[in-house]
Amino acid sequence: MQIETDTHTHTIASGHAYSTLAENVAAAAVRGIKLLALTDHGPAMPGSPHIWFFRNMRVIPRIINGVGVLRGIEANIINFSGEIDIDSSLHEQLDIILASFHEPVLAPTTRTQHTEAVIKAMASGLIDVFAHGGNPSFPIEVDEVAKAAAACNVLVEINNSSFTTSRPGSAKNCAALAEAVARHNGQLTFGSDAHIACNVGRFDECIALVEEIGFPEDLLISIDYQKLLSFLRQKNKPNLDELFVTLC
Ligand SMILES: [Zn+2]
Ligand SMILES: [Zn+2]
Repeated sequence: MQIETDTHTHTIASGHAYSTLAENVAAAAVRGIKLLALTDHGPAMPGSPHIWFFRNMRVIPRIINGVGVLRGIEANIINFSGEIDIDSSLHEQLDIILASFHEPVLAPTTRTQHTEAVIKAMASGLIDVFAHGGNPSFPIEVDEVAKAAAACNVLVEINNSSFTTSRPGSAKNCAALAEAVARHNGQLTFGSDAHIACNVGRFDECIALVEEIGFPEDLLISIDYQKLLSFLRQKNKPNLDELFVTLC
């Protein structure tokens, strides 16, 4: 299975990652990734970049070494009303907005509250991807979340790092979440969540999971970068024309 997109990567700007954008792009090109999302942590995360880092992303070329670069963020869900740590003006400048729970930002409570927060974040229209939803520290009702994701046109991420270096105990939850996405006819995206260039575009565990559960390929957006571009475009993202013209 050839994966063409990586919708979740970090650079040294995140404060606890170890590679530059140029190094991540080079690694993506080697792995055959056509579209790479730059998604450093949002401002509520300790050590994250200043908000100007995100506001200035227009200086990043649309395409570097043949790899399309999506200007993004891994925003934090900051409360159980599902609010995230960026305002709507920044939302209009970015191509792709992930949202996720992180313990340094929001302390876990109950499955019910986590589920409500995710569904409200999705319903806000401000997010494109719900990231690392298999985290056992923030249990959710997978069926309700998958149903809301499909209804709100939000991608559900399966995160390769959740099987390797981060969030131990995620695997079973990721499988359940992916199965729920298939039941509700939603869409999955793969994120490497690379915090170092050698992990960009690495999806061994994600691929093994979808093969094991027989996840329908037509609901996996990561195998077709044009599908991801079309998905983002119909959400009225800025300035994607150059990517369409040059890459497609
Ligand atoms: Zn991180
Ligand atoms: Zn994260």
